[in-house]
Amino acid sequence: MPSPFDWTHDELARLEREGLRRSLVTRTSPQLASRIASSRGTLLNFGSNDYLALAADERLREAARRAIDEVGVGSGASPLVTGFGRYHAVLAERLAQFEHAERALLLVSGYAANVAVVTALVGRGDLILSDARNHASIIDGCRLAGAEIAIYRHGDVEHARELLVSRPGVRRKLIITDSLFSMDGDIAPLESLADLAEEHGAMLVVDEAHATGVFGARGSGVVEALGLESRIAVRVGTLSKSLGSSGGFIVGPASVIDLLMSTARTFIFSTAGTEAAAAAALKALEIVEQEPALRASLLAMSQTFRAELRSRGFQVQCSAPATGSQKIPLPDASQIIPIVLGDPLRTMQVAQQLRERGIWVPGIRPPSVPQGQSLLRISLTSAHTSSDLDQLLSELLALLPAASRENSRS
Ligand code: PMP
Repeated sequence: MPSPFDWTHDELARLEREGLRRSLVTRTSPQLASRIASSRGTLLNFGSNDYLALAADERLREAARRAIDEVGVGSGASPLVTGFGRYHAVLAERLAQFEHAERALLLVSGYAANVAVVTALVGRGDLILSDARNHASIIDGCRLAGAEIAIYRHGDVEHARELLVSRPGVRRKLIITDSLFSMDGDIAPLESLADLAEEHGAMLVVDEAHATGVFGARGSGVVEALGLESRIAVRVGTLSKSLGSSGGFIVGPASVIDLLMSTARTFIFSTAGTEAAAAAALKALEIVEQEPALRASLLAMSQTFRAELRSRGFQVQCSAPATGSQKIPLPDASQIIPIVLGDPLRTMQVAQQLRERGIWVPGIRPPSVPQGQSLLRISLTSAHTSSDLDQLLSELLALLPAASRENSRS
């Protein structure tokens, strides 16, 4: 009998043909930052955002176990009803301290945090300036907000300025960007964006999802590393990458956080995250603060590996922001290293070949990246060893002969 869902078969066939069909691989091992076990065996893992290898750390497990023993598992309700517990309260306070911010708001994910911040700050009659490579959660927040969206070329502050000045008379203006871009692994020109925002009375919001725990003397992110905390007061983060847990957060002035608490629908209408996740994140924050060597060695390893790839003919784009008005230089050391192959089918084929050789590097296709920019996304973590990197390099060299490396723009 025909079903009104029959069209989904055709749609899946189209995705398959275009190399865009996704499938799930079930991990059968603990979440280890540098190894992954599945039905296909144990592979070297270059696909985790667990940059400091804390997700399976015994100290985080113990903290989560204790919280579960104390308060149970689920939080039972949205935060404004009865879902907000003591671990949540302590974590929100600690995050505000860690980020040198007045207040912090916890959400169930970084995705929900981005949607919350954009939809709460702008609406009809307002203007959003959004970097062309911003994360999908920012894009979705922009679409939901109802404001005009002007997309500026990736990292191009002059383009953002042109778009801004060509729209006089808008009510509120919001500039929003990732700090460390999730797929390109490069850093936004935050100081120049802060200048632009100040010149035009625009709000500036920065998503530090991939930079928390990795950049900055305290480990709070790129904004801290560039000395911009007072100029970029509203920031989004996640507990689910370097902090090894799950959940999202927003920090900022008390008035902004209070407004979000009363108006952001992804905060109001979703059950609070678990207190076990909050307890684990609290422990991770302590480790980030007490063990700066973790991030220092990850950045040093990433810098060396970027240089090594480049010396072997891979065109690895510098991850540091274009200087502009920036006073503090950053090293070319981001832990996210893309190798752009362009075509999604070819990208997935190389990812598959790597898998057959014991290495997991995710292939990233549209809509995660623009058409023609499919890439292998290598993410390094503090659990990787130099022999892991040697193995990855030798397989990449074997699979991507010199001629095809030259075509890659990574
Ligand atoms: N922002 C960026 C830049 C991200 O890459 C991600 C996750 N990939 C998120 C936000 C969402 O965070 P979460 O996974 O906690 O929802």
